[in-house]
Amino acid sequence: MNKILTIAPEKCTGCRTCELVCSFFHEKEFNPARARVTVITWDKDGFSVPMMCLQCSNAACMQVCPVGAVYRDFATGAVMVDHSRCIRCKMCTNACPFGNNTFDLELDRILKCDLCGGDPQCAKYCPSGAISYVPDTAANTAKKRLAASKFRELFREVV
Ligand code: SF4
Ligand code: SF4
Repeated sequence: MNKILTIAPEKCTGCRTCELVCSFFHEKEFNPARARVTVITWDKDGFSVPMMCLQCSNAACMQVCPVGAVYRDFATGAVMVDHSRCIRCKMCTNACPFGNNTFDLELDRILKCDLCGGDPQCAKYCPSGAISYVPDTAANTAKKRLAASKFRELFREVV
């Protein structure tokens, strides 16, 4: 059974460990700007949410890619980018409703969560259990969708 990342914002302390382990795993540097997870913090409210690719079943980034560079790894369920095919048009970054695909100008490539090949480091090292990697049951999927739509509404309010 595939597993999915789930987020429990009420447990997030905003420590940003997830960003650091993500960039270190992928880029061998502790650099939040190169992380595939971004912690959004509302200081005034004391509220933080780690945001990363939701690996949507009907992924907008996959639909808009004009060269078929976005594909699904069926072993992990992750939506992946084939950098050798990618023409750097950035349509996938525009299409993601959550802003979870980003483009690294210096590396000249798309940054997106690939579930670390099935062992997501953010879930592994989050000290408060705010990110979990759990079996993709119908209940978890429904919960994830509900959380995603709440985030979307939240972002609409603050952007
Ligand atoms: S590591 Fe966990 S607690 Fe820290 S910012 Fe990331 S999700 Fe939040
Ligand atoms: S930037 Fe690359 S992966 Fe994204 S839509 Fe364009 S060609 Fe596809």
